[in-house]
Amino acid sequence: RRQRCGPGPRTEPGALVRSCSVPQFPCPEGGLWAPAPSWAGRDQPQFGSWPVGSPGSATPAAGVPRTAGTAQPPAMEATTSLLDAAAVGDLVMLDPLTEESLLRTLQERFSREEIYTYIGEVVISVNPYKPLPIYTPEKVEEYHNCNFFAVKPHIYAIADDAYCSLRDRDRDQCILITGESGAGKTEASKLVMSYVAAVSSKGEEVDKVKEQLLQSNPVLEAFGNAKTIRNDNSSRFGKYMDVEFDFKGDPLGGVISNYLLEKSRIVRHVKGERNFHIFYQLLAGGSAQLLQQLKLRPDCSHYSYLNHEKSVLPGMDDAANFRAMQDAMAIIGFTPAEVTALLEVTAVVLKLGNVKLSSCFQASGMEASSIAEPRELQEISQLIGLDPNTLEQALCSRTVKVRDESVLTALSVSQGYYGRDALAKNIYSRLFDWLVNRINTSIQVKPGMQRKVMGVLDIYGFEIFQDNGFEQFIINYCNEKLQQIFILMTLKEEQEEYVREGIQWTPVEFFDNTIICDLIENSKVGILAMLDEECLRPGTVNEDTFITKLNQIFASHKRYESKETLNAKHVTDVSLPLRCFRIHHYAGKVTYNVTGFIEKNNDLLFRDLSQAMWAARHTLLRSLFPEGDPQRPSLKLPPTTGSQFKASVATLMKNLYSKNPNYIRCIKPNDTKTAMRFTPDLVLAQVRYLGLMENVRVRRAGYAFRQLYQPFLNRYKMLSRKTWPHWMGSDREGTEVLLAELKFPPEELAYGHTKIFIRSPRTLFDLEKRRQLRV
Ligand code: ADP
Ligand code: MG
Repeated sequence: RRQRCGPGPRTEPGALVRSCSVPQFPCPEGGLWAPAPSWAGRDQPQFGSWPVGSPGSATPAAGVPRTAGTAQPPAMEATTSLLDAAAVGDLVMLDPLTEESLLRTLQERFSREEIYTYIGEVVISVNPYKPLPIYTPEKVEEYHNCNFFAVKPHIYAIADDAYCSLRDRDRDQCILITGESGAGKTEASKLVMSYVAAVSSKGEEVDKVKEQLLQSNPVLEAFGNAKTIRNDNSSRFGKYMDVEFDFKGDPLGGVISNYLLEKSRIVRHVKGERNFHIFYQLLAGGSAQLLQQLKLRPDCSHYSYLNHEKSVLPGMDDAANFRAMQDAMAIIGFTPAEVTALLEVTAVVLKLGNVKLSSCFQASGMEASSIAEPRELQEISQLIGLDPNTLEQALCSRTVKVRDESVLTALSVSQGYYGRDALAKNIYSRLFDWLVNRINTSIQVKPGMQRKVMGVLDIYGFEIFQDNGFEQFIINYCNEKLQQIFILMTLKEEQEEYVREGIQWTPVEFFDNTIICDLIENSKVGILAMLDEECLRPGTVNEDTFITKLNQIFASHKRYESKETLNAKHVTDVSLPLRCFRIHHYAGKVTYNVTGFIEKNNDLLFRDLSQAMWAARHTLLRSLFPEGDPQRPSLKLPPTTGSQFKASVATLMKNLYSKNPNYIRCIKPNDTKTAMRFTPDLVLAQVRYLGLMENVRVRRAGYAFRQLYQPFLNRYKMLSRKTWPHWMGSDREGTEVLLAELKFPPEELAYGHTKIFIRSPRTLFDLEKRRQLRV
């Protein structure tokens, strides 16, 4: 981890030490107690967050900028605040640690507009729902190369730490941002990106790269974000972006990966929400000529896929956003022809929703469907360069193989609508993938260049709704994996430090969620594998057999409960879905409704439809349906949604594991998007979903506190006559003599090669109190 440059001298580059320190109080000598010569960990206490380094205090080392706006706190204030748990800026130092004290601390800080709090190296961010003046260029300056503990907890401090660590120490970084919808993840990821853009060097080439990276946001947000009840600008996809830098720390480019776009939104959304922004933007902001070219009307109420009552949102200027999106595309390097093709396909999706089917009866008496009003179908066909009859046939019938013969069978109206909606969803989600790939083509770094990487993950947090379906199952699986990697990485790092310091590592108790991950992802008897098995079974697939199998296999699994056990344990719960199971996740118990699992996992598109799309002359559209090529040998079934997701999560985890993690945990303080309102119950639920208590426990798993001997001795030497005023031996010996005299239980302390380790915050508090009595 990176050395922090405090007012003391920087350490030699390359030395990988993590130092820790107590808060910066005025030291007995009258000057400012100088923190460790280098700063790396953030597992230090933040008792309040006073600026330090006032005029007259210890002189900063040459070359280290003095922090702006720094007034030294009066000693009295320091004392009060030390004992004021509510002001603790690092929850690792909470004493006692309870849900209640943790919640109270967050609330107290929030009421002071301190929306950021640490748990060691983790930042908790509570959404203020109002602009705060803490993201100004002056703030960037303040946090850039700052002394971490001289400034208040801030997302910039983490961004700076990650960036400098990458630039100066060659450690690839990843920033993992989680939280529920509306908690501020996407804003946080943008803040990190813009911070990095601001502090890295300037120049024509670099500025162009930065601009392209930043401009990927409005494009992806137009196509991937929507208004939901929780968030007016909710990302409906997970995003991971690797930003790549050269050896000087200048951005070279990047790679974006996207996860699970919520494509069902294309055809359906609940009242009070909207479809993806792009449709409203296009209709509001497209010129008359463009709309004519796309055969669209500037009227949302005309399109059945759009929600009519909520098409205009207060505070959101769709037309202006459309222009911004177009500008962004130009900056990224989309050609006008590419933009047109993209918008044409977008228009096709919108228009598909208006294709109406009517029922008719065949001579055999079987129900069939036909196009009710051919105009929309004809316009779509013109847009994509396809014979309208081909499209009509693909929408209203289906080829079925009977022995070796292909037979065209008519679809009923409901089957026809099912196929039409599946087509719209597929076109849009593939278009979104294309968009991400296209952006990647522009921002990718030339192969062979040496690079350092900072990954930023903005992904949905743990979800527990009234009705939890396949999407929640997948999302919660992803969060379970993120929790697993969090524990692994934190413990790994702890362990490495103990080895470096020559301290015996005693395994610590923590909740290992491998059992839950395995329940879901085990390749033979995991829920996902069993779901795949069900999807592959010939004949009519059936959710009954799926759930029966799960119940049999996991009958005695500690983390699985069937509906029967649930009913037996609790009073019969009438609200339980017909077919369901419950998983005890690390963050809570979730009951999943199995209805829709098979269909969503299968995500099949009638082959006739993909063949029709492939037959279109529209180059972009046809490229989205390679499986529609009749020359291609009948392919195996495409991988299921679940197995694709599992594979991409595995790749993501591998990627994250190779990097130094930085966590931002976002919390939504109220359900009404109200500025500065803190609803304790709501926050408490998130504290649980985010596993924050576990987080603190893991952080203090071994030793909550550690510090280099020299600053430690310097700070506390006045507590013993043997070490005060001068200690002539080594810093380590002095520390040992001092602590022996203070008679702390030996299990509380460990002496490393360069640092003293203290197990519990209480011992540190005790030391601090004694010290303050002396000052
Ligand atoms: P998420 O990505 O977690 O769903 P967003 O990042 O889109 O949430 O944030 C939702 C809304 O909350 C934003 O549109 C913005 O209005 C507000 N918000 C989020 N973070 C901040 C912040 N740091 N300061 C002020 N407002 C914020
Ligand atoms: Mg978001």
